Amino acid sequence: MNLYRIEKPFVFSIFGASGDLAKVKIFPALYDLAAQRRLPKEYVIFGYSRTPMSDEAFRKMVEKSVKGKSTLPMNQKILDELIRHMFYFSGQYDKPGSYNEFASKILLKTKGRKLTHLTYLAVPPQVFTKISKNLARIRPKIGEDLRLIIEKPFGHDEASAREIFHHVSMDFSSDKIFLLDHYLGKDAVQSILVLRYANSILNTLLNGNLISNIQITASEDLSVANRISYFDQVGIIKDMIQSHLLQMLSLLTMELPVEQKSESIHREKFAVLSALKYRGYEKGMVIGQHESYKNIEGVKKASWTPTFAAIRLFIDRQDWYKVPIYIRTGKMLKKKHTYVVVEFKKHAFQEKNNLIQNNKLIIELQPDQKIHVKLYTKTGGASSEYTDLTTSKSIACFGDDCLPEHGRLLLDVFQSDQSNFLTFEEIIATWKFTDKILRCSESKKVKLHLYEDYSDGPSQQDALTKRDGHHWHDVPLQKK
Ligand code: NDP
Repeated sequence: MNLYRIEKPFVFSIFGASGDLAKVKIFPALYDLAAQRRLPKEYVIFGYSRTPMSDEAFRKMVEKSVKGKSTLPMNQKILDELIRHMFYFSGQYDKPGSYNEFASKILLKTKGRKLTHLTYLAVPPQVFTKISKNLARIRPKIGEDLRLIIEKPFGHDEASAREIFHHVSMDFSSDKIFLLDHYLGKDAVQSILVLRYANSILNTLLNGNLISNIQITASEDLSVANRISYFDQVGIIKDMIQSHLLQMLSLLTMELPVEQKSESIHREKFAVLSALKYRGYEKGMVIGQHESYKNIEGVKKASWTPTFAAIRLFIDRQDWYKVPIYIRTGKMLKKKHTYVVVEFKKHAFQEKNNLIQNNKLIIELQPDQKIHVKLYTKTGGASSEYTDLTTSKSIACFGDDCLPEHGRLLLDVFQSDQSNFLTFEEIIATWKFTDKILRCSESKKVKLHLYEDYSDGPSQQDALTKRDGHHWHDVPLQKK
């Protein structure tokens, strides 16, 4: 892999620089870019938040978080060099005066030049539009190439997402807005499209007429570590399904765009996301909460928040409308494993032969990144048994130029490439669908099943697949 190197000087500002996202993801991603020598000689990075802090204290905070979180080998010289480019500005998010002062500070550091400027909104969604409005106001002073990176969650329902988009798009054109879901920066997620482009046989098979069902599983063996107040408000459906898992589903089931260009990709993704259908009301889902959830500090004793959800859905498009798609995700399950299973149909004449299994395409996303194409054969001799002829290859990035998700996605922003970001239309479509599921899950007609910590989740999930004559596929984790 040979990723892009940034040549031109730039400014990078992180709003909410005192917070968790900045420490856990953004500072380490900037270090990763520096460590791979992808940054130019000249650049300025600002942390902006309300907390009073000196440049010195900010740099210490950055150093500590990079050392705790970067996955690349630590090189103190590179880190020192990065930190020399970093400054802190303490300002309000809603006060024009703060932004005027900020603009002066930027111009001081850039010696009056109006450089490409990436701004990362690492703040809660209720602050997004205050920042975008004020940034747009100072844009003539600091430069027109002002790009806005906004990380999921984009609101908490369709109406709040529309509200954010309405305001943000009054101030920024869509080519300057980068709506980030970090799942789309994962190698294995990006490889779904790569696989489809590179293998016409595989792509031909990804056709609803040939597929029996699709299953997406994203299980965690931990509860919600450090973001419990956020999680307890939103629950697993908004946290995992609304964006991460539906985005993956769209990459797998959309028509293959003729051109590998952002516009074509988004056109096809939207066609799928806007055709998602939830049928079956309370019978189409199973939700659960792990046993020890209410003992976590910060969780309300009466919390109804699901930590597990399994959903049966459909895509209302010509080839797909009969293919059940099952999505399940949960916290505190027996293993951490994210994978997709596409199960193909048997020919009618094979159906009675129980010795033959359905062919499967399995994409593992974490912890391993692997693709398996499950074919079956007999190995000769008199045995009547079919054996599993599996091709399984790690597709994890290997070598010196691998980057975790945020680093990769930042490089895309520098290149103005929107392919691995979301569009407003896609987000509204996924919220429309998610709101329907949520209305159902919150109606109390759906029972919240308690499940044992480190188990497979509520056993009731089996009924979802069984009603179509299927069963969940548990893909074993491979030993290292
Ligand atoms: P934080 O709660 O840590 O907030 C970030 C900073 O924003 C705070 O340090 C604070 O800075 C400021 N802030 C917090 N609450 C408010 C408020 N009500 N009004 C104005 N300013 C506020 O959030 P995170 O850093 O965890 O996340 C930022 C965004 O990114 C959120 O939308 C989150 O859901 C999302 N996200 C976070 C991830 C993570 O791993 N943390 C992962 C994926 C998405 P100050 O007071 O100094 O101004």
